Amino acid sequence: MHAARLHDLVDRNAAARPDETAIIDTDGSAASWARYADLSREIAVHLGAAGVGAGDRVLIVAENCLAAAAAIFGASRLGAWAIPVNARMSAAEIARVTAHADPAAVLYTGHVSPDAGAHAAAAGAAPLATGCGALHLAPRDHGPAEDDAEVAVLLYTTGTTGDPKGVMLTHGNLLFAGKSSAELRGMVPGDRIYGALPLTHVFGLASMLTAAAHAGAAIELAARFSPAALFAALKDGATVLPAVPQMHALLMAHAADQGQARLDSPVLRYVSSGAAPLDPAWKRKAEAFYGLPLQNGYGMTESTAGSTATRNPIGSPDTSVGPPLPGVEIAIDDALGNEPGTGEVLTRGPHVMKGYYRNPEATAAALSDGWLRTGDLGRIDAEGRLHIVGRAKELIIRGGFNVYPPEVEAALNDHPAVVQSAVIGRTANGNEDILAFVQCGRERTTPEVLRAFVAERLSAYKRPTQILIVDALPAAPSGKVLKHRLLSHFAERLA
Ligand code: ATP
Ligand code: MG
Repeated sequence: MHAARLHDLVDRNAAARPDETAIIDTDGSAASWARYADLSREIAVHLGAAGVGAGDRVLIVAENCLAAAAAIFGASRLGAWAIPVNARMSAAEIARVTAHADPAAVLYTGHVSPDAGAHAAAAGAAPLATGCGALHLAPRDHGPAEDDAEVAVLLYTTGTTGDPKGVMLTHGNLLFAGKSSAELRGMVPGDRIYGALPLTHVFGLASMLTAAAHAGAAIELAARFSPAALFAALKDGATVLPAVPQMHALLMAHAADQGQARLDSPVLRYVSSGAAPLDPAWKRKAEAFYGLPLQNGYGMTESTAGSTATRNPIGSPDTSVGPPLPGVEIAIDDALGNEPGTGEVLTRGPHVMKGYYRNPEATAAALSDGWLRTGDLGRIDAEGRLHIVGRAKELIIRGGFNVYPPEVEAALNDHPAVVQSAVIGRTANGNEDILAFVQCGRERTTPEVLRAFVAERLSAYKRPTQILIVDALPAAPSGKVLKHRLLSHFAERLA
């Protein structure tokens, strides 16, 4: 059966393998493909009864659970646009998305977390009788439906560099991304993917949820990332682990606290990192820990997750994000970036978004001739592999020299006491200071020690002006560090 729309993937599995496990829900119960498909149909019926039709937007305030996954496919059945947003967002953040997208209805996974429950209660949402926990629904007075049958999902970006932007992803975008991601990982029925990436982030939505539905593989969903739960799942049957770099770092810190330097999993076979820069030191440590290669994938919300990915053996010194995925083109725009060969990364192909919703200026700035401007700086090597050096917006210019935050972070992360770090620039007296925020594990260290440590690794102009040791870094629900919040978050402690 050819999949033309997102929910066709679930229906295809419901026909081919109705009784096999599709999702292990957050309470440990297993749902078959037949149940998953039925539940998405039930949700579509409820949404339809609440007045939702083709081109209407449906906001899904969710944490990972079967109901959230089924709701995304349920919206697809109606031709409505699903907008998965994370229940950990504040009421004000959700209100901004609601005002921008003007949804016809809002669904809440109220049974999964107190946050989701509180949002549902505040909206006066009513419980739905779906036979799957207590999804809550609140219809809204809203504007007209969009006359656009292509869009499947409206997905807001992480908001690392500013306010999140609403990205229109089509059925075609997601079907392509699910297929390429499943093929890259060799996903098959019988695989069990560990699902701590939020379905509300492109990586979880495309490379996990849609890829698993493409392949007929099962996902073990986790509502919140917990290193202890991940550690247990990896010893208990998970075969594929997609994660953001921070998850690998936190897992290894947890395992080290338990005195376990390596994981012994008989069945784990594929581990990947994506959505943020992968530190070379973490890659080395993680490969020793997992006993498997750690593949690095590069992508963004606007490119429906993956554009490139490595396919390396364990121990490879490759620090690139790999060659483009089949069907994807990449190029470098030299006009941006003042080092030869380095410039803004462009990508073109069936993974590129339709545009930003209700933002024609931003769309025009990002898309031309099918090429997407990523805002990332990189270069392509002789083997055709892409190297990301940093984001254009985060490039620090110090005394006329370029400093890329990931390089400074990598030097800090190399220290055994450091779990993760985040480096940003701050303009002072016409120059830029380099501020480093460092999270340590159980073993502590001091800014002085770290200063001496990086001095051995970085030229003088790249060394942080100030190093702050912090308990935790402000992070998005995906685990990505929210860099634009660092200054305000730690304002009182900065010199
Ligand atoms: P916003 O656009 O709202 O500021 P964001 O760009 O962080 O937030 P996402 O779409 O989640 O939102 O992230 C995409 C970005 O993440 C890419 O543009 C790139 O900067 C970074 N990224 C993703 N994968 C990698 C990787 N493997 N290596 C380095 N950077 C990566
Ligand atoms: Mg972005």
